[in-house]
Amino acid sequence: MSEEKDCLFCKIAKKAIPSTIVYESDEIVAFRDIHPQAPTHILIIPRKHIQTTNDLAKEDAELMGKLLLTARDLAAKEGISSGGYRLIFNCNRNAGQAVFHVHMHLLGGRVFSWPPG
Ligand code: AMP
Ligand code: ZN
Repeated sequence: MSEEKDCLFCKIAKKAIPSTIVYESDEIVAFRDIHPQAPTHILIIPRKHIQTTNDLAKEDAELMGKLLLTARDLAAKEGISSGGYRLIFNCNRNAGQAVFHVHMHLLGGRVFSWPPG
């Protein structure tokens, strides 16, 4: 497993800094966003340190598929599956990426507008 010393989400994954973890496996950690933008706002990350979606390798395909399945399962747990939810990866400056460790936002519990801002 790769990890980066100064990466906030690597530290959360290692429990070096506290968060509200809602799911974890040997490969994936999911925790509640500290500034929730919806009643459900969970971040789902690989333990492997990957900076952005630009840096994904072919070998990461199965891992990223597992991230999606985790989102599906957590949506069901949160009771937002049938109502609907949004899954987002922000990449780099134009998307407003603030933490450079790949993460999927799972947002739900309210209506979202389209197109996004
Ligand atoms: P992004 O803009 O896609 O990089 O999103 C980063 C997200 O991480 C934001 O929604 C922040 O609110 C969230 N965040 C930052 N620090 C923490 C933290 N310590 N615990 C949980 N979520 C955090
Ligand atoms: Zn990291």
